[in-house]
Amino acid sequence: MNLPQFVWTILVASTLFIVGVVVNQSLVGATLAILVCFVMMALNLHRGTKFRAWTSHPLSMPPDDLKEYYRPAKNLHDSIRNSRDRTRSLISTSKKYRNIANRLPDAVVILTERKIIESINSSATTLLGLKLTDIGKPLATLIRHPDAQLLLQTDTDDVVWGEIPAPVNSNIRLELRLFHVSEQETMLMARDISDTSRLLAVRQDFIANVSHELRTPLTVLMGYIESVFNDELDRSTLLEIVHRLDAPARRMKSLVDDLLTLARLESSPTPELSTLSEIDGKSLISTIIEELQPLAKPNHRIVVEAQPKLSVRGIQIELHSAFLNLATNALRYSPDGGTVTIKWCQHDGQVRFSVQDEGVGIAPQHIPRITERFYRVDPISSQRTGGTGLGLAIVKHVLKRHQSALQITSNLGQGSTFYCDLPFGQVQEADCVHDTI
Ligand code: ADP
Repeated sequence: MNLPQFVWTILVASTLFIVGVVVNQSLVGATLAILVCFVMMALNLHRGTKFRAWTSHPLSMPPDDLKEYYRPAKNLHDSIRNSRDRTRSLISTSKKYRNIANRLPDAVVILTERKIIESINSSATTLLGLKLTDIGKPLATLIRHPDAQLLLQTDTDDVVWGEIPAPVNSNIRLELRLFHVSEQETMLMARDISDTSRLLAVRQDFIANVSHELRTPLTVLMGYIESVFNDELDRSTLLEIVHRLDAPARRMKSLVDDLLTLARLESSPTPELSTLSEIDGKSLISTIIEELQPLAKPNHRIVVEAQPKLSVRGIQIELHSAFLNLATNALRYSPDGGTVTIKWCQHDGQVRFSVQDEGVGIAPQHIPRITERFYRVDPISSQRTGGTGLGLAIVKHVLKRHQSALQITSNLGQGSTFYCDLPFGQVQEADCVHDTI
């Protein structure tokens, strides 16, 4: 019960007492009136106590019998509940955004105007090596790379960019972007661009290699063409020059052809094997042997061991080009002749195609790299034999598109075996047939 109410009760009780004494000329009525007043006062006191008790748990509904306390209590209850709901929703929204920020693959660092760390996400730890305990520290003291320092000193409203090796691992290349997110705050984003950088480097290497490969035959061509223009040449010398133009022109053509083949293989989608046609290995090998004949030297021996009626699902033109490449290499890198054995047989539930030669062989350190474009163990001998340096890269791509991979075993000076296992098409039981050509 508050003071005005108390005063009012005393006033009403005294008035009733006086009125009771004056009007009834007796103390009974007056005393009764006072009693009623004090009962009311007691009830009021009780409600006040209840109200006070409720205020310590204002989130529960106020009791109905609070009478005049009920309305203010209900208003208080509603406003506390609303504010609690608002706080809860704010907390859940902030948690949601924090979770999203933590799942971002890019590092995000929020900085104050003075470039002090205000908050970080999880990737800031994995990419920039920042810890939660770094919050409150100046970022410039934690990322020491000069380019990052320069970036942090730049004061502009535009987005500033930079590239640095990741402080946690120098093999990771990071792209940094710094920009204002509010009047007082700046955001630093760091993205792992190692793959893109690698791709760019590969592309630059590739362009440099292609230019280099084309320049040699082109220089030869230009030299001959210039001599035709400069000198008074008789017909037989002219014919001789035209004849000499043939080799570099062919070289350029095979380079361009191989480049186009590679580009086509890389850009066309990997086929679904079940939708491809059946290719009979034995007849495919027969065509390859026919094409090999002009390349074989008199002291070369070609042996074929092919299981008849054994087919794979595939793209005829691609498998033909891959197998021909391997067989051609076997002849080209067997300078002293020797035997080249081509096999097409069942092996461990698959079809194995293999080409074995007794040629120069390959040292172990070169084997993992020889399917790279333009990689040559011996560039001079490769160019002399007319190689473009793209043959095995084409083979690798073709086999990948046929759910297979090129395997190589080799001993330096003793020869090599190139083979691959392909998923079955159809198989009808028959033994391998040996042919020697
Ligand atoms: P190239 O046109 O130079 O032959 P390839 O991609 O076909 O290009 O082969 C890459 C390199 O692998 C060759 O330069 C050669 O050094 C090596 N190589 C390929 N096949 C054989 C083989 N049968 N024996 C020895 N070395 C080989």
